[in-house]
Amino acid sequence: MKQYNLAVIGLGGMGNWHRELINEGAWFGGKKFEGGGIKRLRVYGSFDIDPARQDFAREKGLHVYNSAKELLSDTRIDIVLVATPNDLHKPYVIKALEAGKHVVCEKPAALGSAEFEKMISASRAAGKVFAVHQNRRWDEDYLCVKKIIEKKMLGVIHRIESRVHGSRGIPGDWRALPEHGGGMVLDWGVHILDQALQMIDGKIKKVYATLTNVTNELVDDGFTVELTYDNGLVFLAEVGTSNFISLPRWYILGRDGSAMIERFSGKGKIVRITDYSKNDAVPIRTAAGLTKTMAPRTNETIKEEALPVVKSDIRDFYKNFIAVIEGREELKVSLDSVMRNMKLMEAVFRSAKKGAPVNFE
Ligand code: NAD
Repeated sequence: MKQYNLAVIGLGGMGNWHRELINEGAWFGGKKFEGGGIKRLRVYGSFDIDPARQDFAREKGLHVYNSAKELLSDTRIDIVLVATPNDLHKPYVIKALEAGKHVVCEKPAALGSAEFEKMISASRAAGKVFAVHQNRRWDEDYLCVKKIIEKKMLGVIHRIESRVHGSRGIPGDWRALPEHGGGMVLDWGVHILDQALQMIDGKIKKVYATLTNVTNELVDDGFTVELTYDNGLVFLAEVGTSNFISLPRWYILGRDGSAMIERFSGKGKIVRITDYSKNDAVPIRTAAGLTKTMAPRTNETIKEEALPVVKSDIRDFYKNFIAVIEGREELKVSLDSVMRNMKLMEAVFRSAKKGAPVNFE
């Protein structure tokens, strides 16, 4: 069985995440996947323009290249991973494909759909596999929501809210600069909008977006996007970087129940109706009024349930990539699906600029 050698261009935080996953099977919080790294693949070398990252690579036993050109001309390398700031994805991906390498590119694949189209054309012309690392399709909290929808655990779903909140602003590096493809739509929107596209069948009719500039003038440091699907379902995607109190990661409303997931950890619950006929409640009296509508249901008409457990293994991303190279599988993250997401992000920017909803599909 062939062993594949991968080289990383841009061995920063995420480039090193790939090295640890592939070579060591590193998981989360210092834990390791059972069975270790990815069997038929190893990170052989890297190139980074930062000398400190070149030293780091040496410490980790990688072959250190003096330039991207040198890396791309090494015939021992089968696969190139591009994990540089976003604006460099397109030039490096195209160069690597033209050098006859298979390519994995970090998200966002490109700064826009036109750039992405050129990258796809380059992979067709080279006859090499090109994949985009939309790794959050393997997040267990997301897969749990997907399962709740697929199994119709809450009846007909009418609203899904997906939020990622932090309070540390945008990291003070390239992510804060438009020329490097900074901003939170391209950084986190690319994940949570992609998840929306993956979990709901149907077309998005309308996109309504507002961007925030609380700590950054040059790029969006957060956003709220409302997607209206053709069946009426509304998906709200929100990213905030000045949120000192975080709202739940997921909040899902169906005709027959609600679900909530607190954080990526997957802690949360489902509350489902058991008896529609008993709708009575004791009104709540507040200091200045009375409400029966907002009074809680009585306990015998609802049931609290645990969330379904879904296990995933991100190593499948690379196992699939190798299987595609060998002609045994199709890409799990299809380029068409990534293109749809690129176009959705463009609609987000269009709507934010217009200050009004825009049509999408
Ligand atoms: P980073 O700043 O930690 O790393 C980027 C590296 O690229 C740095 O070491 C930098 O020196 C290097 N670099 C810059 N210009 C270069 C050039 N011309 N040639 C070679 N190297 C160059 O950033 P990061 O957080 O690792 O992000 C890198 C990429 O990974 C981005 O596209 C980002 O969106 C993506 N990312 C993905 C995830 C995910 O979960 N999929 C998470 C974080 C980052």
